[in-house]
Amino acid sequence: MISVNNRDFLLTPISDYIISAEKVANVQLGNNAEHALLVLTKTGYSSIPVLDSKDRLQGLLSMGMIMDSILGIAHIEYERLFDLKVDAIMNTDIPTIRTTDRFQRGLDLLINHPFLCVVDEDGVFAGIFTRRVVLKQFKKYIYSDQ
Ligand code: AMP
Repeated sequence: MISVNNRDFLLTPISDYIISAEKVANVQLGNNAEHALLVLTKTGYSSIPVLDSKDRLQGLLSMGMIMDSILGIAHIEYERLFDLKVDAIMNTDIPTIRTTDRFQRGLDLLINHPFLCVVDEDGVFAGIFTRRVVLKQFKKYIYSDQ
């Protein structure tokens, strides 16, 4: 088991560790599924945030959700991609953290999610907090001990 003597980093603000919104690929409400599929394919990300016109977080969208939405009884109905809006496909039941939350809350939630969306007090998307960033922090912390 990893033994961490100094737990101060658990209290540091999440804002120190987030990938800021302007660097995060996203889609907007009203975009169609074809556009979202292109963004997901080109970026290679497993899921991306859906924002409204005021940059407020509305949900998350993955390739799996899109494919599931066009699954017909006998075949995949690709022709529906153009008419389907991301609004109807996205998952709105997602955990979020606030820019004012501490590292520890993010760490607890990251156990079950590869990344978390971070929002400000108005629900405006501020960025993401990823497992990769956390692992990098732990690596830095553990190696600096030797
Ligand atoms: P990572 O920890 O970098 O492997 O990222 C895990 C997941 O976080 C990715 O599969 C994406 O769903 C999401 N993600 C990470 N970076 C970005 C980004 N710049 N834009 C959109 N989504 C991202």
